[in-house]
Amino acid sequence: MASADDIDALLPQTQCTRCGYQGCRPYAEAIARGEAEINQCPPGGAATIGQLAVLLQRDPLPLNPANGVEGPPLVALIDEAACIGCAKCLPPCPVDAIIGARKQMHTVITGLCTGCELCIAPCPVDCISMVPRTSLAGAPAAPDSQLNRQRFLAHNERIARRARERDALLASRKQMAGADAHPREL
Ligand code: SF4
Ligand code: SF4
Ligand code: SF4
Repeated sequence: MASADDIDALLPQTQCTRCGYQGCRPYAEAIARGEAEINQCPPGGAATIGQLAVLLQRDPLPLNPANGVEGPPLVALIDEAACIGCAKCLPPCPVDAIIGARKQMHTVITGLCTGCELCIAPCPVDCISMVPRTSLAGAPAAPDSQLNRQRFLAHNERIARRARERDALLASRKQMAGADAHPREL
């Protein structure tokens, strides 16, 4: 019996959610529980379905069109003249492939972009588009699943660390406010 770890190891790790789950790991867990089919990952396409079929000793299935279609690797491109520097595209990027500070122009690091498209919807001025990777002169190859996983784990760890720091700051402010409200008598 294959584990969720075994299944997850075969997934592209773009975290695009097109499989109908919140990311690759939840999809892997759903397959392991027998609740999802092996043909729901458009980025992985026929190759991933084939690998899952071998692992799980099942017949390969065609990609479910309800989840999308297999296509050439895409990469996000920001129209830098139109970018208003709102930074709304930064948090949704699972692999931190966008750089830029608030009120400054943002740009995509092509070598890290998985083509997940998660930055498109949050952009208020629609200045991000997806283009075929091969249409960009000199674009590096798409990142592999191992790099995607490393970047995603680092992204999650950074978010968790910031949440811990924020909680600690709030707790210390509350403590100080409490001390101010009840000054010790001399
Ligand atoms: S890469 Fe595949 S498994 Fe991962 S979230 Fe996207 S569709 Fe789901
Ligand atoms: S830049 Fe956009 S498309 Fe590329 S990985 Fe980040 S969120 Fe996905
Ligand atoms: S969401 Fe759009 S406008 Fe805002 S920083 Fe990102 S690319 Fe620029």
